[in-house]
Amino acid sequence: MGLLKNVLPALATAMLALTAPLTASAQGLIRDAEIEQILRGYADPLFEAAGLKPSDVNIYIVQDDTLNAFVAAGQNMFLHTGLIMESRTPEELKGVIAHETGHIAGGHSVTREAAMGAASGTSLITMGLGALALFAGAPDAALALFGSAPQFGLMTIFKFTRVEESAADQYGLTFLEKTGQSADGLVSFMENFRYQELMSESRRDPYFRSHPISSDRIAALSRRAKEVTAKSHPQSEHDIEQLAMMKAKLVGFIGPANRVASRYPATDQSLPAKYARAIAAYRAVDIKLSLTLTDELISIQPDNPYFHELKGQILFESGRAAESVPDHRRSVELAPQHALLKVNLARSLIGTKDDADLEEAEGLLQDALHLEHDNSFAWNQLAVVYARQGRIGDADLATAEEAYYRGDLSRAFVFATRARDKLTLETPNGQRADDIMALSDPRNRPRGSSRGGFSGMALQTQ
Ligand SMILES: [Zn+2]
Repeated sequence: MGLLKNVLPALATAMLALTAPLTASAQGLIRDAEIEQILRGYADPLFEAAGLKPSDVNIYIVQDDTLNAFVAAGQNMFLHTGLIMESRTPEELKGVIAHETGHIAGGHSVTREAAMGAASGTSLITMGLGALALFAGAPDAALALFGSAPQFGLMTIFKFTRVEESAADQYGLTFLEKTGQSADGLVSFMENFRYQELMSESRRDPYFRSHPISSDRIAALSRRAKEVTAKSHPQSEHDIEQLAMMKAKLVGFIGPANRVASRYPATDQSLPAKYARAIAAYRAVDIKLSLTLTDELISIQPDNPYFHELKGQILFESGRAAESVPDHRRSVELAPQHALLKVNLARSLIGTKDDADLEEAEGLLQDALHLEHDNSFAWNQLAVVYARQGRIGDADLATAEEAYYRGDLSRAFVFATRARDKLTLETPNGQRADDIMALSDPRNRPRGSSRGGFSGMALQTQ
């Protein structure tokens, strides 16, 4: 489904109440296989250098024009789209990620949570659950969860101490050094925004409120950065191209309507420019033009999974599900590691209305759920497949899973109960229905709560 865009007005409102200038442009979280892949390519080596297991660190993309990056509830890193857009080089973005990884390595966010009081743990977990539900294509539930987690706002207004900032800088430099990368980006990013030091607190980008910038800090950073950079490899062309493609995609999908035309004039024949124009045409519902432009992209890079994904998305969204299958299938062949691409293909196969396609759709959804067990949209689609196959007990169970991962425990309980009545308790599915019933049972929930909080997370580790 390409760049899955979710606008969260209630979240923005909830956060607005807390910190008006800071969150005015906050709109929610987005998922996109390509952008996630690129960010992983930048971040994973740094996580490894920090002794972290990359698969244990979640990266969330926040649709927000302001500059910000933060870590929350342990190993969860949030990057604003504004940060990606304002990074002039991959080295700048990697520098910020290295610094944030430094906060994880230094245990700073944990210290903060402790300082925020005992209650904060629960609301951060709630936020995480909301984030996961949102990712899975269920903005309503996520909206409710986010609305109940005002600490999301707090996470961006707390301030690291100067000691913590300096420690995170030094850790970040170490991780860059270990991966043979230049520290120039971290320094140039700070220098580019050092004017914010002179601005009043409320006018600064959130990043420079939580991570106070100062001349002393930049000076300390620069000294060691020179040594790190002297030993580094030059930035790869590949990384540079990927940043440009990521920006083009973001401008195309979430930028203001006229931004593509101004940033990528017709004379610009680069691949990112063509990409941005294809997406802009799709957004403007000019299907013919967007298909022409996307076909041109595919002719330039026939093996780019995300060009096929875009074409599949355009066709599917314009009511041509069967026609979208070959491109979605190609995207899965080219990038089999992405659950989101498998779900796209499954959705198109379901959309053909041909029952002969259901078995393949089921296999794809099972594969996707193997990669992302908490993907509630995949559960939703699986329920559709089972219902059409007449497997009503399995369909009820899949609906219970969907509701569970969206955080709607009342609905999860209803459907898990129905599923258990139809399935044999001795089978894995029957057992699973019983488990969801226990986890979502209203008698086990705190009064006045429709969600599971910690119990909700326990199941997600499966
Ligand atoms: Zn910091």
